[in-house]
Amino acid sequence: MYDEAVLAMFKQRLLEMRGDLLSLDDSGVGPAAVELDQSRIGRLSRMDALQDQAMSVEARRRRRASLRGIDEALQRMGKGEYGSCVHCGEPVAYGRLELDPAIESCVHCAAEMEQGSR
Ligand SMILES: [Zn+2]
Repeated sequence: MYDEAVLAMFKQRLLEMRGDLLSLDDSGVGPAAVELDQSRIGRLSRMDALQDQAMSVEARRRRRASLRGIDEALQRMGKGEYGSCVHCGEPVAYGRLELDPAIESCVHCAAEMEQGSR
């Protein structure tokens, strides 16, 4: 599939992405962290805070999903399957991996899934 130097580069990027996501999750102070100051919060700002909280839950959910994708990509790398589409086994184009090293499907399967979900 791809040669070792290329795999090593993608692995490095996956590990960096993973580290970033983990540091955000551990600290709990992502950009949308909510601080509830009970004494100061009026009705409106409490709604704001709840909205912020919902957004931060959503952001966390997305981080978890990205993390899972990265872990799966690293596992595929360990098995020597990295760079193959998980659906059809065809090679995933280099340009797609470069955009997102955790990507798991070739352009054809991705297009099919997108159509299916509409
Ligand atoms: Zn495919």
